[in-house]
Amino acid sequence: MTIQEIQAEILRLKKEKDICILAHSYQGQEILEVADYTGDSYGISVEAMSAPQNTVLMCGVRFMAETCKVLSPEKTVILAAPDAGCPMADQMDRAMIAKVKEDYPGYAVVCYINTTSELKTICDVCVTSSSAVQICEQLPQKDILFIPDQNLAQYVAQKLPEKNIRFLEGGCPFHAAMTVEDVTRARKAHPNALLLVHPECPPEVARLADYVGSTTGIMAFAEHSESKEFLIGTETSIVEHLQFSCPEKQFYPLSGALMCPEMKKTTLMDIYHCLKGNGGEEITLSEEVILGARRCIDEMIRLGG
Ligand code: SF4
Repeated sequence: MTIQEIQAEILRLKKEKDICILAHSYQGQEILEVADYTGDSYGISVEAMSAPQNTVLMCGVRFMAETCKVLSPEKTVILAAPDAGCPMADQMDRAMIAKVKEDYPGYAVVCYINTTSELKTICDVCVTSSSAVQICEQLPQKDILFIPDQNLAQYVAQKLPEKNIRFLEGGCPFHAAMTVEDVTRARKAHPNALLLVHPECPPEVARLADYVGSTTGIMAFAEHSESKEFLIGTETSIVEHLQFSCPEKQFYPLSGALMCPEMKKTTLMDIYHCLKGNGGEEITLSEEVILGARRCIDEMIRLGG
C-alpha cells in the first residue's frame, strides 16, 4: 500500500470504530494528517476529554498517553507504539524524588508535564513549558524544587529572580545537546533567520535566541512573524510542519541532532494495526495514581496553567 492508501484506510477505520487519534507535534506530517487533534502533550489530552469517542489512540510517548488517561479515566487510551518512552520522564521516579524531598523541607515541588503519572502523585503542581513561569510565579512558596528539566528550571529562575529555584541534573538529551557553536554555525549559514528555541535547550543557547517558548509558541511565533527565515531550536519535525503550513517562508533546523528517536517510533502502520485491533497497548493506571496525578494537574489549572 502507498502512504496515501494507508492514510485512507486509517481514516475509514477510525470512523468505523469511533476512535479519536491524538498526534503530538513531534510526529511526522503523514501522522498529523490522520489525527483528530495535534499539538503539545497537554493540549491534545485536554482535547480528548471533550471528544465524543470513548477510545483514544495516542501517537506520542508513554507519559503523554498516561496524561490522557489521568484526564479521561473513563476512556480507553491506547499508546500506538508501546516502546516509545521519554528519556527525560524516565530519569526520575517516585522513590527517588520522595527521598530528595526530605532534603528540601518547605519547598514546593514542581514537575514538568514530561514526568510519569506516578511521580506526579508526590509533586505539588505540574507545569507545561508555556505555563512554567506563570505557575511558579503564582506559588506562595519562595523556595521551589523544579524537576526534571534543569534547563527549563534555569529559564524559569532567570524570569523569576525573586524565587529560589533549585533543580536536579536532568532534562531532554536532544534539546540539551544544543550548543553555542550550533548557533554560530547556523547563524553564519542563514544570517537573516530569526532563532526560535525551546526552553529545554541550555540557557547559553536560549540567551542567544530571538524567541524562547513552547513548541506551540514557536509555531505561532513563526506563523505570525513578518520575517521570512527561521532557525528552529526544537525537534526537527517542527521544521517540516512549519514548512508545510508556511510554504512562503524558510525554516532550518538549528542542528540535525535535534531529532527525538522515541517520537519517531510511531509509524502509520502502527496506527493501522491499532485500529485493526492488533497493536498498541492499553494504558492502565491504579485509582491512586489517577487521583494523585489529577490533583497535581488540577493545581496547575487552578493557578492558571
Ligand atoms: S524530545 Fe525530549 S522531552 Fe520530548 S519526548 Fe523526546 S526525549 Fe522526551
